Amino acid sequence: MAEPSVKIGLYPGTFDPITNGHLDIITRATRLCDRLIVAVARNAGKGPLFSTDERVDLARSEVEPLRQRGFDIEVRAFDNLLMHFAQSCGVAMIIRGLRAVSDFEYEFQMAGMNAKIDPTIETVFLMASDRYQFVSSRLVKEVGALGGDISPFVSKRVGEWLENRFSRQKVVTE
Ligand code: ADP
Repeated sequence: MAEPSVKIGLYPGTFDPITNGHLDIITRATRLCDRLIVAVARNAGKGPLFSTDERVDLARSEVEPLRQRGFDIEVRAFDNLLMHFAQSCGVAMIIRGLRAVSDFEYEFQMAGMNAKIDPTIETVFLMASDRYQFVSSRLVKEVGALGGDISPFVSKRVGEWLENRFSRQKVVTE
């Protein structure tokens, strides 16, 4: 448990892979808390393209510039119940991003459920910035798999990893 004066935020997700939309939320979240933990869900029920280690590695390299600017950010994998993980880290708030209406129903239910588990931990929603409103890991993978330009949505490094993964898959299926 951290000192009570340090406000810790937790930004959980699948991050398969981390996009510029995620990074925008992370950057804005650093203004709300003293320490931010980006929590990569190990047991993502979505059959992720990247392994947990790869998703953590990519997220770490994306947040490195913020760390170098002095923000206290850590990337960690977790595989237990989100609220139990949050409690074990002593977090004050869960950060989630909200895009248009599509995220609302799921996020609303999850926030309600999590508040029942531990009402002392607030879920804080950050509205997606205009330019990232339509960016999702799923669409980035779909566009990338079909050879589309994903450079506006992900960093150079993430783009290269996606390209490698897709070219490897192509070799396997050919
Ligand atoms: P999950 O599987 O938990 O939805 P994701 O990695 O897809 O994990 O997303 C993590 C969080 O980031 C979610 O709250 C999601 O709504 C938010 N998010 C994803 N993409 C964006 C974006 N482009 N702008 C703002 N928030 C986003």
